[in-house]
Amino acid sequence: MIPVNDAYNESCGCPVCRLHEKAENNYLEYYLGPSLMEPDTRKITNKTGFCPVHMGKLNKAVTNRLGLGLVMHTHLKDFNEELNPKFKSAVPAKAGLLKGRNPDYKQKLNAVADLIDKRVKSCPICDNLDDAMGHYVEVICWMFSHDKEFKEKFVKSEYHCLPHTSLLLRQAAKLSQNEASEFVEALYSNNTQTFDSLISDVEYFTLKFDYRNTDKPWGTSKNSIQRSMRFLSSEGRDFDEQQSKK
Ligand SMILES: [Zn+2]
Ligand SMILES: [Zn+2]
Repeated sequence: MIPVNDAYNESCGCPVCRLHEKAENNYLEYYLGPSLMEPDTRKITNKTGFCPVHMGKLNKAVTNRLGLGLVMHTHLKDFNEELNPKFKSAVPAKAGLLKGRNPDYKQKLNAVADLIDKRVKSCPICDNLDDAMGHYVEVICWMFSHDKEFKEKFVKSEYHCLPHTSLLLRQAAKLSQNEASEFVEALYSNNTQTFDSLISDVEYFTLKFDYRNTDKPWGTSKNSIQRSMRFLSSEGRDFDEQQSKK
């Protein structure tokens, strides 16, 4: 409950994004820390490696280059050992006059492609994060109906980004109808207010490009594109106003 309260104590942005970011940083640190040398963890990372997003984040966190190298080495070996025998046996034989055609080859090629796709996507950080976020939204729903102060903070939060609105709706679907009613009402009004204010701010932003409006003040519209991107996505960090100026 403490991390949930902390996330809702800050008034700007999506509180669930803050929970996600903190949990993600913890897992990134964990997988770059001493856990790397634990056989149980390595058994997992040898199989899974990391998804493209988390490889990028591990690469940026330059704290443990050697550890990352060791994990990559044993992951590559594991991937190679599983993939390449299947890959080799999937190479279709040339159909000649003597050898018959074998339509099986299509299935085999698709099976190898499926294996690659599945392994490329698999990631223990994503799995851990999904579990943690599932637990957090459970706590959020519980606190909403049991803690008046928290309910107020929830109602007043600047917005809940759309991916996290979806997560909260799925959790609300597990509540009793009465509990869900108040919670979803609050979530709905938060959502529709955000849509309305972003739509009007972005429209104003575009109207500012009309020469007749150049002297008008930007008001709250100046960073409305970045704010919209943060609302539409749970990955807020790449949409900061500084990046857009580069
Ligand atoms: Zn969010
Ligand atoms: Zn991942």
